[in-house]
Amino acid sequence: MSSEEEAKLPPHVLIFPMPIQGHLNPMLNLAQLFCLSEFHVTFIVSDFIHRRLLNHTTVPETFARYPGFQFRALSDGLSDDHPRAGEKAMDIIPSVADVMGPLFKKMMIHEDLFASASRRRVTCIVADGLLGFAGDFAEKNGIPFVYFRTSGACSFWTYYCITELLEAHEIPFGGNGMDQLIKSVPGMEGFLRGRDLPSFCRVNNPNDPVLHNLKDLTRQTVRAHATILNTFEDLEGPITSQIRKHIPRLYTIGPLHTHLKSRLNEEMILSSSFWAEDRNCIDWLNGQPSKSVIYVSFGSLTVVTREQLFEFWHGLVNSGQRFLWAIRPDSIIGGENHNIPVELTEGTKERGYLVGWAPQEEVLNHQAVGGFLTHSGWNSTLESILAGVPMICWPYFADQMVNSRFVSEVWKIGLDMKDTCDTLTIENAIREVMGVRKNEFLERTEHMAKLARMAIREGGSSYCNLDDLIEFIKSLVI
Ligand code: UDP
Repeated sequence: MSSEEEAKLPPHVLIFPMPIQGHLNPMLNLAQLFCLSEFHVTFIVSDFIHRRLLNHTTVPETFARYPGFQFRALSDGLSDDHPRAGEKAMDIIPSVADVMGPLFKKMMIHEDLFASASRRRVTCIVADGLLGFAGDFAEKNGIPFVYFRTSGACSFWTYYCITELLEAHEIPFGGNGMDQLIKSVPGMEGFLRGRDLPSFCRVNNPNDPVLHNLKDLTRQTVRAHATILNTFEDLEGPITSQIRKHIPRLYTIGPLHTHLKSRLNEEMILSSSFWAEDRNCIDWLNGQPSKSVIYVSFGSLTVVTREQLFEFWHGLVNSGQRFLWAIRPDSIIGGENHNIPVELTEGTKERGYLVGWAPQEEVLNHQAVGGFLTHSGWNSTLESILAGVPMICWPYFADQMVNSRFVSEVWKIGLDMKDTCDTLTIENAIREVMGVRKNEFLERTEHMAKLARMAIREGGSSYCNLDDLIEFIKSLVI
């Protein structure tokens, strides 16, 4: 290709998410937004995800519309029968670094940075902030790169401050420190307790390797040309201003799932769920009164023991509230199999409905849904805020500990059940959010939803930041 021909070609962005559901969703949304700007996009997934996308989603049809888009699949190093959830969920981080990283580098070199007759070599890498090796490769080969941290600003900032937390001996905090206020995370002094830090801070050994890996991965974000966060300024402005002292080129462009919808027809939006969505629950919801149903879901990685399952179930039943509960097929542990106990399926029929995997965004936006019992994953949190649905948080691990504290203490749009899981607590929390304090929670959540919609509207903060990001990526083309 002559240099004049090449000069007419658009930027070519390589997008590389950590291959798990909660990271893939926002990065696929960003890929689609880039395609709308007529960028060429190469998107790296694991073989495991690629098969799921082909089986359960509309992603292949969606991206077939964009001639500049292509997938490349690589092994993530985990066997097909690896549980990829619960305690084992974190195995993906070292496995991706040890197996997928070298394969990625080899493929980049072998395919000449994905150059072809109609596309430039990759002009910018947008990598998940947890993929340090992608930054190493970009630096070594002189390719501009941007990190995308798919969590909220609040949790990103706590990860960023792990160095200071260790230096101040605030971690490890030991059993007694769980309720002590943390002082080394600027902007969170008055309300963040030991138990609200990311779960990886709950260690006895200050040299814990997982803690240090996450600290180092977060700290190395600064070397990127820019950082993207899936959040909006009206939600997390006080925290993003702390982050900007260290990372000035920070693009807050969320909530991405709705940002995409605002720039595209609804029917053009992809579904990227790894599990088949059970749409029968929408028919069931159609028959329920307005804001009468509490939706229960713990995301794609959380597992529950049979004891916890029954605590939740009794809490739900005793609350007298209608409920829709998504119980992922592989999420029950501790029994002979993963099956939902018969007592639960039979006993639920009167006022509840069970599904394996729900069309969550549609469920949250359904007029019958008035509350969300959630594990506080960042995507779920944003989806709930956008839908104006107050939350009851039962964080399981990682950033969810921070997110749930912000829901209850900062935004005051729900309650945090952190580290408790008993029938009475669950029942009382449901009564509060769906009954006694319903109006108060609804009012604040709906206000936040309005601010979120304004952020992605023309002239709003996320809208403008996305346009700036697109211009920035264009400027990186040499
Ligand atoms: N989700 C869904 N149906 C379900 C449960 C979850 O579509 O039954 C989606 C949900 O809408 C969200 C994602 O799965 O986009 C979960 O991401 P999140 O960050 O909330 O949690 P994670 O799975 O990473 O723990």
